[in-house]
Amino acid sequence: MSTRARKSALVVGGGLAGLSAGVSLSRSGFHVTVLEKRPFLGGRAFSFNDPETGVEVDNGQHVFVGACTEYMQFLRDIDAWQNVRMPTRLSTPVIRNGKTAWLQASSWIPGAAANLPALLSYNHLSINGRLRLLYGMVRIRFAGDPSETETFVAWLRRHGQNDETISRFWNLIVLPSLNDDITVVSASAGIMLFQTALLGEPHKAAIGYPVVGLSRLAGDAAQSVIESHGGDVRKSVDVHSLVIDNGHVTGVRLPSGDTLTADAVVLALPAAAMCDLLPGSYAGTDFFSPARHVETAPIVGVHLWYDRPVMDDPFAAVLDSPLQWVFNVTKMHERESGEADGGQHVAISLSGAWQWKDKTKAELRDTFTREMAKVFPAAATATITRFITVKMLDATFRVTPRAEDHRLPQETPVPGLFLAGDWTRTGWPSTMESAVRSGNLAAEAVARYLSSEHP
Ligand SMILES: Cc1cc2nc3c(=O)[nH]c(=O)nc-3n(C[C@H](O)[C@H](O)[C@H](O)COP(=O)(O)OP(=O)(O)OC[C@H]3O[C@@H](n4cnc5c(N)ncnc54)[C@H](O)[C@@H]3O)c2cc1C
Repeated sequence: MSTRARKSALVVGGGLAGLSAGVSLSRSGFHVTVLEKRPFLGGRAFSFNDPETGVEVDNGQHVFVGACTEYMQFLRDIDAWQNVRMPTRLSTPVIRNGKTAWLQASSWIPGAAANLPALLSYNHLSINGRLRLLYGMVRIRFAGDPSETETFVAWLRRHGQNDETISRFWNLIVLPSLNDDITVVSASAGIMLFQTALLGEPHKAAIGYPVVGLSRLAGDAAQSVIESHGGDVRKSVDVHSLVIDNGHVTGVRLPSGDTLTADAVVLALPAAAMCDLLPGSYAGTDFFSPARHVETAPIVGVHLWYDRPVMDDPFAAVLDSPLQWVFNVTKMHERESGEADGGQHVAISLSGAWQWKDKTKAELRDTFTREMAKVFPAAATATITRFITVKMLDATFRVTPRAEDHRLPQETPVPGLFLAGDWTRTGWPSTMESAVRSGNLAAEAVARYLSSEHP
């Protein structure tokens, strides 16, 4: 099919939602143009070159579990699978008061039961705590739809969980996965998380991670696929508004006043940015107005470069410490032999970082240097050669009770207009998986629309 004869789609936003929509539409034979405001792709999952060390630094450590099937397929589709590592099962060290316990699935028990030993041998919990945990998992396994207004912590307490299991197990997983404390996330989000990742086949709970910077992982690779299908990816293009003709969306307007036209437009943006592009008469409608109420939560990343290795594992969770989760970036990026000075790059990921987002760099350095030295003895005698922080204030959308009411479907009542973005209705919390699912759903809706007689 020649380019002229092909139906066209404009995708606004070069994050994972826009890129997955763009790749999917390109592969279905449509002419795609992706427009991204910033000079680089990846959206909230990007990397930059640290000017001092020259090393690629991610805007925040990104990991995914084996249950993220559409994100993993997207990586395969853009030929980026070789740039991630995905173990076959859950295996995570958890440090508390100098002792390490492992959340480790069995390699010889088949099926979902393989995750049982991870819970039963988790010795940061008393025997009573482990039995409670098991009971909680059984209740989650058979949970129906919880009340829309209940928090996960309230639900857990109604199902036999106490302070010990909540702080040493449930919140250890909830805080980094849902980017909010267990006391504020909804019961439905918490139940979905454990049903999806921990109560299925063992590979679904395994934690995968990229071995290259995030921009290189997905942005560049997706751009190549879109271009190889004759599409365009245009960066540093800040879309100003939608062009609407007789109630149909026919394109977008740029700040220069120029317009770009297409048969369909996908807004693959965070909720607030999407609302800003809608004309006032649309933004206030029953369909679009809930998006104004999507709330966001911060993540703060603290990066330390030590002059020598201070930790062995690729990552570790830490209890009873502000450290939360600590990532050995040197090891994850398989840089051991390549690290010029023999040092180690460690990233601390602070989720639900309300407490940290307004701290100065000096305050963060003081707190986290001290904590690292307490938890990893080798850090006490190592020298820090570089220290940076990355604050992402609107890192994820919040999954508090009733937050689902604010998520919009990908198909809108406006002909020619489609939505994508992790916050749109995917059934997933704010994750790369949700972003890719939204992009795929939007692409399917566009394909249905463009194949119909209307456009
Ligand atoms: C620090 C941090 C850590 C995270 N950790 C994880 C993790 O471990 N695992 C996980 O699964 N998820 C994680 N996430 C969440 C994940 O990054 C997001 O869910 C996902 O990247 C969202 O993708 P998106 O395409 O929906 O939105 P975005 O990535 O926000 O993409 C929207 C794009 O639209 C562009 N844009 C905005 N306005 C315009 C305009 N007017 N014109 C043109 N372009 C515009 C933006 O520049 C942006 O590139 C993390 C996020 C952060 C910030």
